[in-house]
Amino acid sequence: METQTKFLNIINEESDRLARLIDDLLDLSRIESGRQVWRMGYHHIEGVIDESVAAVSSLTEKKGLVIDKKVREGLPEIYGDRDKLAQVVTNLLGNAIKFTDNDGLITVSAAVSEDRVQVAVADNGIGIPEDELDKVFMKFHQVDSSATRKKGGTGLGLAICKEIIEHHGGKIWVESQLGEGSTFYFIVPQYKEI
Ligand code: ADP
Repeated sequence: METQTKFLNIINEESDRLARLIDDLLDLSRIESGRQVWRMGYHHIEGVIDESVAAVSSLTEKKGLVIDKKVREGLPEIYGDRDKLAQVVTNLLGNAIKFTDNDGLITVSAAVSEDRVQVAVADNGIGIPEDELDKVFMKFHQVDSSATRKKGGTGLGLAICKEIIEHHGGKIWVESQLGEGSTFYFIVPQYKEI
């Protein structure tokens, strides 16, 4: 019985993993082929952040983590696809949770940088080696360490984030110290530029 339960759990986990991989592949190919329908409009970034924090609440609860939100008051609205931007923030938060210990700290913040709104998702988790900082945005790239391998994932999340942000005329990047944590940043324009 115990063995059966163990195998059923493995089958369950593997089918979830395959479903995620298919979702991510479809998502990426829709964007890359120009078939993605973008619903552009003006939005408050705080609403997008709140939605994303809520979307990962079961993951934070499971790990006992709290996400600290720091959003400057009076931020200008941004021009973008709300669901797609929420997908980016949710993905960055999901990674921050995945690569941070149970007693870790995760902060999501938003501020104005020149004429753009800048969002940052910071964690004090395992960090990323310097020579991997650009590579993590490449399709299927996962930092090759046993810790990463154990965490699963498709290696497509950040490639999708990059496509979404670049479609908005923005930029996404990461700063990190191995063993100390990572901060992912993205900027999006306030006004219609595309
Ligand atoms: P996935 O998380 O599905 O593996 P991603 O494209 O989202 O794929 O991320 C690619 C890789 O970048 C991860 O496998 C991991 O090695 C690294 N990475 C992403 N976010 C973080 C983070 N917050 N801390 C440490 N490493 C990270």
